[in-house]
Amino acid sequence: MTEAPGTDRVPTGVRSLDRLLAGGLETDCVTELYGEGGSGKTLLCLEVAVRVARAGKWVLYVDTEGVSADRLRSMAGDELDRLLQRFLIAAPKDLTEQARAVSAACALARDGKRPVGLLVVDSATYYYRLSLSGDDEDDAREALVLEVAELVATTLAAGIPVLLTNQVWRNVSAGTLEPLGGSFLNHAAKTILRFDRLPGPRRRAVLVKHRSLPEGAAEFRITPTGLDGGSG
Ligand code: ATP
Ligand code: MG
Repeated sequence: MTEAPGTDRVPTGVRSLDRLLAGGLETDCVTELYGEGGSGKTLLCLEVAVRVARAGKWVLYVDTEGVSADRLRSMAGDELDRLLQRFLIAAPKDLTEQARAVSAACALARDGKRPVGLLVVDSATYYYRLSLSGDDEDDAREALVLEVAELVATTLAAGIPVLLTNQVWRNVSAGTLEPLGGSFLNHAAKTILRFDRLPGPRRRAVLVKHRSLPEGAAEFRITPTGLDGGSG
């Protein structure tokens, strides 16, 4: 069976994960990473972003987490200042600012003025989670749906991977960690990876959903200079 057109891949640079993903992130869909705190979601976003910038493409990064300059420096080394010239980072402080930042990033990705290689939203659900059970829960849900719809339209129109992270809630009766964001987000993302914490620096990525690949898993480690998915 041959793959359908439009299945270019952007490698993450984490070998085990790239094998799991048959080469990397797809350029015509939203890839969702979810997992508990400390599972490596932000580190993967940074790892791919540095790689894309190193290849000379622009990175649009919506950051509700406060990208750690230290972590970026340890990944990029002496190249950091040069690579940062290829980053456009927005750091929204609430849901409204996040909606604006996502819209602006989508517009930049689509206008074609810069060669954009990646759009990241980390985390898509941080402010959303804060609003749950509050007066603005419905507004937050609606804003998230609109953002995700715009991100889907953008990856299709611009042909660049959209990588977003999502937080989890504990389903006590099932004993599982489930992604936040409701069914719309989890239908809209065509590739979904769950990151699990293993002992020490080890982490596992589970491919929960993909259009053309079977479910599977890969391991990698968190190191002082980034994520290591082994060799070969
Ligand atoms: P959250 O949901 O809280 O945003 P996350 O999944 O984005 O979490 P990351 O920030 O990507 O998690 O991963 C942080 C992990 O990296 C933590 O387990 C932390 O202990 C580890 N870590 C941070 N700095 C270093 C370092 N210099 N060397 C090794 N491990 C580190
Ligand atoms: Mg994070």
